[in-house]
Amino acid sequence: LSPADSSVAVTEGLYLRDAYLREFEARVLADDGRELRLDRTAFYPAGGGQPADSGRVRGADGSERVVSEVTKSGAEIVHVTDPRDPWPPASVVRGAIDWDRRFAHMRFHTALHILSGVVFRRYGSGITGGQIYDDRARMDFGLPDFDRAKAERLIEDVNAVVAEDRPIHVRFISREEAQRTPSLVRVAAELMPDVAEVRLIDIEGFDVQADGGTHVRRTGEVGPVRLEKIENKGARNKRLYLGFGAPGTPGVGGPA
Ligand SMILES: [Zn+2]
Repeated sequence: LSPADSSVAVTEGLYLRDAYLREFEARVLADDGRELRLDRTAFYPAGGGQPADSGRVRGADGSERVVSEVTKSGAEIVHVTDPRDPWPPASVVRGAIDWDRRFAHMRFHTALHILSGVVFRRYGSGITGGQIYDDRARMDFGLPDFDRAKAERLIEDVNAVVAEDRPIHVRFISREEAQRTPSLVRVAAELMPDVAEVRLIDIEGFDVQADGGTHVRRTGEVGPVRLEKIENKGARNKRLYLGFGAPGTPGVGGPA
């Protein structure tokens, strides 16, 4: 391949800088009538525990396609749609994400960051994973002694941070800067060796994490959260589900 031929197409992820962008215009990079690749998109591709966005895209010919799945393929973002006649390369399309669903994902994602900050303060970490759903979020703990009372205390701590309504900033810094900054030691240690630029989610004065997901602008937008249930997945593996709503109210999954 000549240098010109080896240039790969790149989709600009508009959600990385503006999580509140619901509609956008883009140009078609490639389309086979089902897998649609655009030069820019507000659709979040599944990753980092956050589900992919759903929504619709309208082509220059006026036809509309439902986006049911969004994935990353190298530097491109692929919108998987219901099959139609393909749209021509470079033609302009308009996309719109399902906002209510995405906003719930944003609130849950930020709630999990607050929870992980709370756990770090109480236990010096212990988190082994997390997942966001449309109606709840879960976090996994590698803490040996974890029970419902401890989980309730964590949720109280989360709600205190929600009530503080702290601003949340998205920042991009170099790997070197992350390694130089004492408060980012935890972030720097988790970076892949080939990462040059780091995207940070900074909950002001509380928690900073390297992250590619979408978040609300202030912790107050998360709203109150409640403990849905905890599950025992083994001696050192406990799972906590949280939902939206005042603490003590019945969960989506019923009483735990
Ligand atoms: Zn995250």
